[in-house]
Parts: sequence; structure tokens; C-alpha cells
Amino acid sequence: MIEPIILDGRALAKKIEESLIARVEKIKNKTGITPVLATILVGDDPASVTYVRMKGNACARVGLGSRKVIMPENSTTEDLVKKIEELNNDDEVHGILLQHPVPAQIDELRCFDTISTEKDVDGVNTHTFGLMSMKRESFVSATPLGIIKMLKYYGVQIEAKEAVVVGRSQILGKPAAMLLINENATVTVCHSKTKNLPDVVRRADIVIGAVGKPEFIKADWIKEGAVLIDAGYNPGNVGDIDMENAKHKCSAYTPVPGGVGPMTIACLLLQTVEAAEKHLKIHNQKTNIINSEI
Ligand code: NAP
Repeated sequence: MIEPIILDGRALAKKIEESLIARVEKIKNKTGITPVLATILVGDDPASVTYVRMKGNACARVGLGSRKVIMPENSTTEDLVKKIEELNNDDEVHGILLQHPVPAQIDELRCFDTISTEKDVDGVNTHTFGLMSMKRESFVSATPLGIIKMLKYYGVQIEAKEAVVVGRSQILGKPAAMLLINENATVTVCHSKTKNLPDVVRRADIVIGAVGKPEFIKADWIKEGAVLIDAGYNPGNVGDIDMENAKHKCSAYTPVPGGVGPMTIACLLLQTVEAAEKHLKIHNQKTNIINSEI
């Protein structure tokens, strides 16, 4: 039996972060300005608190500034829209991240759509999605971007392959499917109303698990030699794919943790640096993020 390749997101994320240190340094030397990522956290959900802290730590590692905005659990959509508009108009802020999910009373999509396209470094708003889908220059939803970068870096062929994405959320499943289409895969998107899900997944050369249910995708749904990307992150460091059993059938897989998660953060940082370079008109790197070397 051939051992599957481990798609090590942590190692690739480290390379990306290392490349960003010099770019941030250059911005600071040329302009005297430290690029800033603003993160907005509504309420005190422990997982969200941890994610926001991790993103702040990651900013510090590459020399970016971070501004944490914490809003009460009972905030309204209007409160959040007002805060995002303030950050849109703040020249000291180059990227804005609204931590998902927000409390149920808030219209999350309206808030995402309030983030200006120039500062939408997490790639969550409708306009960004449209530009990305049409292959126009834009930021890209950070987790799907991390997935595509990993596939390319590890030499996984996407073109002409059958990809099945399980999940269709605005921040993950849908943009992942669009990026795969743009890379010339044949893509099927599954969701809670999909019939015969195991049979659909069995067709896949590339499986993207983006469901949010622990070990939901079973080993016997996996075609021999498929590439498995587990974007799920459930309590106890458990992914959406039963990888312990499925990894014996696949040709490559992402571990949880250490696969998609670190790449999401690296792509968020990368796009924050891109946003600052564009804003400050420092074009020392290719701006086509997807086709850049890492
Ligand atoms: P979400 O908004 O809850 O979406 C889940 C998707 O799964 C929905 O499209 C839903 O279908 C589908 N689904 C639910 N039950 C299903 C079933 N029985 N059969 C088929 N599809 C089903 O979740 P998300 O925000 O996309 O996150 C998904 C997972 O990714 C979570 O574990 C999250 O923690 C993780 N995540 C990780 C990162 C990272 O950086 N690693 C980033 C973002 C998210 P419907 O549309 O029909 O409801």
C-alpha cells in the first residue's frame, strides 16, 4: 500500500508568513506606516475568542498591527454596520475581519457586505465573491484560497478532476466550488438536501469537507486514490472527514489540526499585506494572489 501524502498546511503557512515579514518591513521602511488588520468580535463565544486571539498573534509574527474591536453580545445589525463603516473610513486600518458567526439577531451578510471591497481581506462580501467568481482581481475567501494554494503547492492536479464540495456556506463551500471551477475542475456542491450523498462523494477525485459535523464523511464514501481536504474544525480538534479510516484509501490528505486552519490565517495575513500595498501604492509583488508562487 502506498502511503498517502500529508498536505502539511502548517509548513506551507510558515513559508507564507516568512515571505510576508520582508514585505511588511518594506512597507514600514518606505512609508513609516504599520499595516493594520482590524478584527471585530461580537460577544464572547469561546471558540471565536480563541480564533481572534490566534489571528492577532499571527499579525504580530509578521509585523502587522492588529486592532481588536469587541462588541457586546446584544449588539444590533445597525451597531455593527456603524462600526464597520467607521473602520472603512479609518485610513490607519487596511483590512477588516468580522469573526463568523455573529449572534443570531444580527444580519451577518449585511454586515459582511458593509466591509469595503478594498478592506475585505477575509473575502466575505458579495461583491468580492462576484469578482472572484468572474476571475477579476479581488480578494478571495481566506479558507478556500488556502485550500487552492495547498493543492497547487503539493502538486495536486485540479484541472479535469471531479471535485465534490460538501457544504455550501458563503465563506467556505460556495467560494471553494467557484475557485475549483476556475481551476477547470468539474465540481459538484452538496448540502443538507442532497440525495445519495455517499454515492456523490464516491465520484470525487478531490473531496472538500466543509460541513461542520465531526467525522461526517465516512471512509467507505471515498474513492481509492482521492485527495481529501478537511476544512472542518469541530470541538476536540476533529475534522469533518473520518480521516483515521479514510486516509488508508486516499492519495493525499490534510490533517486536523495543521491542515486547512493555518492556511486560512496565512491567507488572511497575505491579503492584509496586499491591501496595505495597494492602499499605499507599493507594488513590489505580483498582485495575482492565486497564481503567486506560494
Ligand atoms: P455552515 O455555515 O454551518 O455550513 C455548513 C454546510 O454544511 C451547509 O451548506 C449545510 O447545508 C451543509 N450540511 C449540513 N448538514 C449536512 C448534511 N447532512 N449533508 C450534507 N451537507 C450538510 O459551516 P461553515 O461556516 O461553512 O463551516 C464548515 C466547517 O468548516 C466547520 O467545521 C467550521 O468550523 C470549519 N471552518 C474551518 C475554517 C478553518 O479555517 N479551518 C474556516 C471556516 C470554517 P445547508 O446549506 O443545506 O444547510
